[in-house]
Amino acid sequence: METADTARRIIDGDRRALARAITLVESGRTDHRAQARDLLETLARSGRQALRIGLSGTPGVGKSTFIESFGMMLIAQGLRVAVLAVDPSSARSGGSILGDKTRMDRLSRERGAFIRPSPSQTHLGGVARRTREAVALCEAAGFDVVLIETVGVGQSETVVAEMSDLFLLLLAPAGGDELQGVKRGIMEMADMILVNKADGDLKPAATRTCADYSGALRLLRKRPQDPDGFPKALMVSAIEENGLSEAWAEMSQLAGWRRETGHFDGRRAAQARYWFGEEVRQALLAQLRTPDARAAMDALGDRVAAGDLTPQAAAESMLAGLGGR
Ligand code: GDP
Repeated sequence: METADTARRIIDGDRRALARAITLVESGRTDHRAQARDLLETLARSGRQALRIGLSGTPGVGKSTFIESFGMMLIAQGLRVAVLAVDPSSARSGGSILGDKTRMDRLSRERGAFIRPSPSQTHLGGVARRTREAVALCEAAGFDVVLIETVGVGQSETVVAEMSDLFLLLLAPAGGDELQGVKRGIMEMADMILVNKADGDLKPAATRTCADYSGALRLLRKRPQDPDGFPKALMVSAIEENGLSEAWAEMSQLAGWRRETGHFDGRRAAQARYWFGEEVRQALLAQLRTPDARAAMDALGDRVAAGDLTPQAAAESMLAGLGGR
């Protein structure tokens, strides 16, 4: 693939070129990695910027229904929307909670929409890099909004929050008055909580849940990157398409405020620094996984076990030999 030619096609909005480029960034082959790096460097010069919105929620809260309704609303406003997924279940089992083809049927038929499921059978580090690079590709392709979806389990929220300008948590109405076991760390990451299914019989429960979370959010430390009133909890109904334009207005207000105050670029800069660190860590771990490195670990491990070497001395010897192996 010729880098300059591919880059031009992506910038011109060629969807097949975009899809192929995402396949390229998903590849682990060394020559593909080099091509992907060149392509991303070339495209970074396009200077295009989308609003990156991360969305997390446990299975069944209505993520795909919300993304479809919300995406259709944005498209009706003339915006172009890309949807990507970080699916930790595919990392573990090769199966997938997110991204099966029947989801987001209406949205997938829209010309202004681009939906790409999570690749399967990659470890979370690999999915994270691939998604981050896919976000950059969609951005260069001129999408206005890139939605990055994940299920609310394990580490995947952090991964998505670290590549989003705005991070949303989608919840369903709770039965009782208890907060739904949402971990404090995740509440702290959320820029907005959307209580979905605020319709029909569920409306009273949604109202209660929304009030509970509004209260819980007020107890969190005020964040310098937020104007007054944020983070906030809102009610939506993805099915009845209620509250979606209000939620979008809030997101736009928050993003606008952050742009004006420099927090938007500041967050992206901090994220770039975070991902640089991650790349270094991943690359170091990859060096430990080579056959030679494993053999050296075993040999040094034997000497540590036999009492010939202290763990620290063996580790220093191991690390000194890395890279050269
Ligand atoms: P996901 O697993 O988070 O992607 O959830 P889905 O979008 O697949 O939705 C799970 C279930 O909740 C489906 O049966 C939806 O029809 C239902 N659902 C989604 N949004 C709403 C809503 O706004 N109101 C109600 N009443 N049900 C909804």
